[in-house]
Amino acid sequence: MKTIVIGTNHAGTTATRTLKRLNPEMEVTTYDKGENISFLGCGIALWVKGEVKDPQGLFYASPKVLAEEGITVKMGHEWIGLDAANKTVKIKNLATGEIFDDKYDNLILATGSWPIIPPIPGIDLNGVQICKNYTHAKIIQEKNLDKSIKKVTVVGAGYIGVELVEAFAEFGKEVTLIDVADRIMPAYYDEEFTSLMEKRMVDNGITMALGQMVKEFKGKDGKVTHVVTDKGEIATDFVIFSVGIKPQTELLKGQVELNERGAIKANDYMQTSDKNIYAVGDCVELYNIATNTHGPIALATTAVRTGIIAAANIANGNSLKSPGFTGANGIQIFDFKMASVGVSVEGAKRMGMEVEEKFFTDNDRPEFMSTTKQVWFKVIWDKKTRRIVGAQIASENNHTEVMYMMALGIQKGLTIDELPLVDIFFLPHFNKPYNFVTLAGLEVLGLNYFKK
Ligand SMILES: Cc1cc2nc3c(=O)[nH]c(=O)nc-3n(C[C@H](O)[C@H](O)[C@H](O)COP(=O)(O)OP(=O)(O)OC[C@H]3O[C@@H](n4cnc5c(N)ncnc54)[C@H](O)[C@@H]3O)c2cc1C
Repeated sequence: MKTIVIGTNHAGTTATRTLKRLNPEMEVTTYDKGENISFLGCGIALWVKGEVKDPQGLFYASPKVLAEEGITVKMGHEWIGLDAANKTVKIKNLATGEIFDDKYDNLILATGSWPIIPPIPGIDLNGVQICKNYTHAKIIQEKNLDKSIKKVTVVGAGYIGVELVEAFAEFGKEVTLIDVADRIMPAYYDEEFTSLMEKRMVDNGITMALGQMVKEFKGKDGKVTHVVTDKGEIATDFVIFSVGIKPQTELLKGQVELNERGAIKANDYMQTSDKNIYAVGDCVELYNIATNTHGPIALATTAVRTGIIAAANIANGNSLKSPGFTGANGIQIFDFKMASVGVSVEGAKRMGMEVEEKFFTDNDRPEFMSTTKQVWFKVIWDKKTRRIVGAQIASENNHTEVMYMMALGIQKGLTIDELPLVDIFFLPHFNKPYNFVTLAGLEVLGLNYFKK
């Protein structure tokens, strides 16, 4: 039995290793057009900032490690065609130009995503940079170290853009953040949280150009000099362009079912409309248990989990069902930590969900502790079923791990009424006897004993 895995980054790497561990007899071959595997994109900003000294630490596996596990790894090999009827993929060796067919019993597609690059005039100018892989990371770091580059503009206030803004600013660059939305990271957080983060960004010298649409990049001698928006012109020496991603699925049209945005459709076993083809990671749409909808959740954590599911089901015959995903994520900017899970109130409204919410703030630890800080917490639940569908948290102390519990709660159908009964321990070093999560839940039930 042979499984071919196309794409060997987070999803593909996990899938190949899981297959080999669960069935050492299985023949596993993986193709990737790139030269490296398992690159942690989150490390780009940390490298720019100076936290990461050696970028080799941003890889947790290598073709050599996989080969030692009995996996046939073909780097620099591009997948260029699929004949699903004959269970055959067409591959091009990018070094030699040789094109050949390879036959599979099962195929796992892990081709991931690529940054969206709209046809904005001047977007091809030197110095307008996308941010996805190690090649981009090296360019970005080189520009960061270049002293002649003083003004950096980041277009796109998603988590990639926001993390890079902080990194460049901490390295001493003059940074402007542009986004068409009027607040940062609107897909993950409600305004109560993004305003806390934005304040810290402004306090740290970031120029916020929110609610502005980029119309053009102007340049001199082929190099970017200005970003033109619908509200004005911003002088710049370097631009990061990060406004979203799209799944890499062009070759699949007419072969397996895709959604309207090009993501591969799959069932709870990560199996596509062709029962011998599975899809994992950024290229596939997933069941979002918080919203009861299907859509992409582009996170390395999700990529890894879908890789495990697909491989386990190939090895063991569809025995591992996805519990549904929640999009749990976290971020730290200027020492301020935030995390969220499930759907925001704004997102729920957009989707026509009827939800209720509790936004709650308290000190995280007893006031007698020297380490006490304020914490902001929000819990969101379905109005009818009272099932929790989202949560957000922010503090200078790290409470982001509370979102692990909230993700589990959402996956297991926890209701807002059950939240105060979750068995949360107490220790003054960490929290109050009435933990802020418990108290938020009690307040919803009219039982906040500290409030008149
Ligand atoms: C800057 C940045 C920061 C991030 N930070 C975080 C974070 O902190 N936490 C988090 O959870 N996620 C983070 N992410 C998201 C995370 O990196 C992605 O969700 C993850 O990489 C998806 O993994 P994947 O394996 O599905 O796809 P990809 O990483 O996109 O990998 C796809 C692979 O397929 C290969 N491929 C594509 N087409 C072909 C073809 N035709 N032939 C051969 N090979 C092909 C590509 O070369 C690539 O190696 C970040 C992403 C970026 C860019």
